[in-house]
Amino acid sequence: MPDWFSRSIVDDKTTMLTEPFVHAYVRANIWHLRGRDADLLVDTGMGICPLAPEIETPQGKPLLVVATHIHLDHVGSLHEFPWRAGPRMSAEQFVSMDEAATYAYMFHDLEGAVSKLPAPGWKAADYKIPSAPLTRTLDEGDIVDLGDRQFRVLHLPGHSPDSIALFDEADGLFFSGDAIYDDTLIDDLPDSDRASYISSMRRLLDLPVRIGHGGHGPSFDGKRMREIAAAYLGRTGGI
Ligand SMILES: [Zn+2]
Repeated sequence: MPDWFSRSIVDDKTTMLTEPFVHAYVRANIWHLRGRDADLLVDTGMGICPLAPEIETPQGKPLLVVATHIHLDHVGSLHEFPWRAGPRMSAEQFVSMDEAATYAYMFHDLEGAVSKLPAPGWKAADYKIPSAPLTRTLDEGDIVDLGDRQFRVLHLPGHSPDSIALFDEADGLFFSGDAIYDDTLIDDLPDSDRASYISSMRRLLDLPVRIGHGGHGPSFDGKRMREIAAAYLGRTGGI
């Protein structure tokens, strides 16, 4: 349906899309960054309505799509794109879209799943994520190259075992997925691991981030990110 996604222009190279009519719990950020030789799309939302037609790229320019982890609100539309990268750790589950990994089942009976129907007769109970086998698997230290900028892959488990993030060491731009963001952090899902999350937060304290674009919530600078990480460490006894 038209207008399922909202769109904000972040700067001349960056657009953020999200799904204002889905429950806040699964309303994730979708980042489109224009590079010289290729564009980057970080995460793909719920997949309730097609995302690919909303992403404009010049003809012939590749769109590199990276899923930061396999949770439902980040991989729903991944199958729509031909170039699909994601964490090596959960690669097999991107084939099956196993609901034990995506948590799609949690959406089936979520009260107020959507505030506007995407189509007449649409039901959250029918929600299903299509298989999206990865065409490239990513792990710690790998590079995603847009020609004029390169992102290093960081493996930052805790929220989920497979959480990865993309960091441009040249200018401090950071796509953090759900490893860290400026909103309530979730560390109590069945596959969350608090000890891993504490290690990831300690690592983030030393990362020279200039601007971070997270999987949820507003963007943050390095100072704010360190505040979020320190608050988590304080709350969990990690300091
Ligand atoms: Zn998540």
